[in-house]
Amino acid sequence: MPDKQNKSLGFETLAVRAGQHRTAESEHAEPIFPTSSYVFESAAAAAARFSGEQPGNIYSRFTNPTVRTFEERLAALEGGECCVATASGMSAIYACCAGLLKAGDHIVSSRSIFGSTTLLFTNYLQKFGIETSFVALHDLQAWEAAIRPETRLLFLETPSNPLTEVADIEALAKLAHARNCVLVVDNCFCTPALQQPLRLGADIVIHSATKYLDGQGRCVGGAVVGSAAVVGQDVYGFLRTCGPTMSAFNAWVFLKGLETLSIRMQAHCASAHKLALWLQQQSAVSRVFYPGLPSHPQHELAARQQSGFGGIVAFEVAGGRDAAWKLIDATQICSITANLGDTKTTITHPASTTHGRLTPEQRDEAGISEGLIRVAVGLENIEDLIADLGRGLG
Ligand SMILES: *Cc1c(COP(=O)(O)O)cnc(C)c1O
Repeated sequence: MPDKQNKSLGFETLAVRAGQHRTAESEHAEPIFPTSSYVFESAAAAAARFSGEQPGNIYSRFTNPTVRTFEERLAALEGGECCVATASGMSAIYACCAGLLKAGDHIVSSRSIFGSTTLLFTNYLQKFGIETSFVALHDLQAWEAAIRPETRLLFLETPSNPLTEVADIEALAKLAHARNCVLVVDNCFCTPALQQPLRLGADIVIHSATKYLDGQGRCVGGAVVGSAAVVGQDVYGFLRTCGPTMSAFNAWVFLKGLETLSIRMQAHCASAHKLALWLQQQSAVSRVFYPGLPSHPQHELAARQQSGFGGIVAFEVAGGRDAAWKLIDATQICSITANLGDTKTTITHPASTTHGRLTPEQRDEAGISEGLIRVAVGLENIEDLIADLGRGLG
């Protein structure tokens, strides 16, 4: 489909059709190209390809037609010029940082980010002379105060995991640009079906395709989306040299996932909303965290910034860890796993799993109590899920 057509087409149309380049075989579904290299017609043609004089495929660490279809489709959905697919969400974040930053540069990051992202910043980028300061996600003044002359990059996830705090992307983009920084948003929780950070002023979007983009828990992958100059040059340059590329097979799974993203996200949101409303009625539940509830501190911001409130609900049960574990162990449908963005509902006790390595003081500061439970609502029947969670609440 010609790129210039993309701007006038709706999200669902792009999700199904963007990026497909039909081959001479006239196939209807997108083909998988499981090939590591490509053949040239002559020695001179090989030389022209290698010198860059003639565009085209050379080697699948650089480009692969199936991966390119996924990249073009996701770029169209995020409203970005360019997308680079990666082997995992973590390698997307690493490729973004390695492509953009150098020793002496500084990152300001939300404190409420994925655990491995925190470790990447503190244990690895630090070794190469890149320092990170952490701030509270929705405290704009703290972001501003943490920016130094050498700050190059602001990094966040919104809504946050597991407490679903929401940050004002537009305000942070303005701040970033006023101070010569780029704003990077990990859009894993919302996906472009619910939130498009580039349209709100962010410079780069990160994805763990492992989550909702696949949506069925099958493959690990990631992506970086942004401008042709930064993502297409700096991030792609790192990727083709250092090699955390996405496999053609995984790209095919993800691009088929994108075709149903919009209706899946609507269903995840509808069920999560129902679950949050039901949880609010339960006397054994002391607090519910869901951006769709008017009691959520950033409910209005979420309503403005997102086209749906997401599939993640967190709640606190009275009775601390014992009560939380009892509820989790009483479920018969929910999967006890820390993953999210699957058709299968997952249930997690953050204090002893995803946030288990924090000290009790750090957990307190992050708001992760012993009674906190996170549910990533899947696509099962919602009444069955409510009954399943009800088993351990009594
Ligand atoms: C899972 C996740 C990642 C890391 O992605 P992988 O595909 O597991 O490498 C990054 N950010 C968020 C918000 C995630 O949930």
